[in-house]
Amino acid sequence: MQGEKTILSIQSFVTHGYVGNKAATFPLQLHGFDVDAINTVSVSNHSGYPIIRGHRMDLQEYETLMEGIRANNFLSSYRYLLTGYINNPEIILKVSETLKELRALREKEGKEVTFFCDTVMGDDGIMYCKPEVIEAYRELIKFADIATPNYYEAGLLSGINITDMESAIKCVDWFHAQGTKTVIIKSFRTKEEPTQLQFLISSIKIQNDDNNKVPATPRRWTGIVPYHEGRYTGTGDLFAASLLAFSHDHPLEIAVGKAMAVLQDTILETRKEGGDGNSSLASRELRVTKSPNILLNPVTVVVVKPM
Ligand code: ADP
Ligand code: CA
Ligand code: CA
Ligand code: CA
Repeated sequence: MQGEKTILSIQSFVTHGYVGNKAATFPLQLHGFDVDAINTVSVSNHSGYPIIRGHRMDLQEYETLMEGIRANNFLSSYRYLLTGYINNPEIILKVSETLKELRALREKEGKEVTFFCDTVMGDDGIMYCKPEVIEAYRELIKFADIATPNYYEAGLLSGINITDMESAIKCVDWFHAQGTKTVIIKSFRTKEEPTQLQFLISSIKIQNDDNNKVPATPRRWTGIVPYHEGRYTGTGDLFAASLLAFSHDHPLEIAVGKAMAVLQDTILETRKEGGDGNSSLASRELRVTKSPNILLNPVTVVVVKPM
């Protein structure tokens, strides 16, 4: 069945560049999704630049927007909830109430909701959120169908520093113990293999199973992608959006492989246009609009193998 392609996407908005909803909306729309965006911030650019100007949503503004969404009966139409950069512990906690409300509304109609929770807090040892945000995400991830932390965020949440596959597995098991059904550590680099990025998928949910039978042991998959020297922003946001899109009509592991491939192709495209590891922040903005084709049908093949 084709199913509803409707998303409530709670992320940042930037005027310039491609992070948050700016990185997620276009790819999702290309895939044919209706993306109803809540912009948690509306700012000039991402926080890596020396200057940032704009507006940050507070809890009251979030609730006011939700009031409108609720009053017009839009809320029950969302098949997916996707969250990214919020950086406000009160809103993060409120999102779990929004999810509960959404689930209850749709259950009455016999309809599903899938919650993709990208726990945006920082990267590579640099935290760009308030410390209370970590605590709030520890609550929210309990309700996540799919959590997509980067290795640093997974470490902040679990207290387990990811340095290799062994620590990554300990970390995903921590997520499962909290209640997260599926967790994807999108990439981590080891001392032994610095030229590649490994990823780990761990799921305690049987895919495409309506009976919700939970197997005793999680199913896990892994794979590698080549590491491209340099820091890119918005990669996780494009990944989460692509994962949601592909998971709509593919099993989890296939969807992850395709989303990984989208990132490879997009980073290569960005580098081809001058955005290599040593270039300016502006030239390292992901070229999300450059080749719509690769967002739908990435060229790179990323192998995802069961563990
Ligand atoms: P985040 O952007 O949230 O920090 P990651 O750094 O794990 O998350 O990036 C998400 C995905 O983007 C990774 O799974 C990987 O496929 C790709 N990616 C990000 N940075 C690089 C890089 N420097 N080289 C190759 N792939 C990258
Ligand atoms: Ca809509
Ligand atoms: Ca990263
Ligand atoms: Ca991220």
